[in-house]
Amino acid sequence: MTESLHIVCPHCHTTNRVRADQLASDPSCGSCKQALFTGHPAALDEAAFDKHISRSQIPVLVDFWAPWCGPCRQMAPAYEQACAQLEPRVRLVKVDTEAVPNLGARYAIRSIPTLALFKNGREVARQAGAMGAADIVRWVQAHSA
Ligand code: ZN
Repeated sequence: MTESLHIVCPHCHTTNRVRADQLASDPSCGSCKQALFTGHPAALDEAAFDKHISRSQIPVLVDFWAPWCGPCRQMAPAYEQACAQLEPRVRLVKVDTEAVPNLGARYAIRSIPTLALFKNGREVARQAGAMGAADIVRWVQAHSA
């Protein structure tokens, strides 16, 4: 029997059940029919964030950032590159701490950019400061194994 995983859609945030061996075969959402993995980090509000963190059965990497933060904007292309390398084993999302201040407060984000990795609803690692794409990938692999 093949294992299946709960994958939360980055568009409509519906939870999909996807066979593990189908993850890399460009699965689409049963609800909105869009691709479950797009190669781009999903921008989430608080309600969507909670769905992804609580329901996703793959690790979720969060970039806490803000539009006024220079290092955050500099890291954005590296985060996109890391997304292309880490999907579909990891879901990459972004939280704009200016637009969604509740989440920054809930997780006591003191500086941005901050990356936080969640597994099964629990934060397992956190790293403040901008990183290059290769460093992001290595850091995630070290903490999601
Ligand atoms: Zn969807």
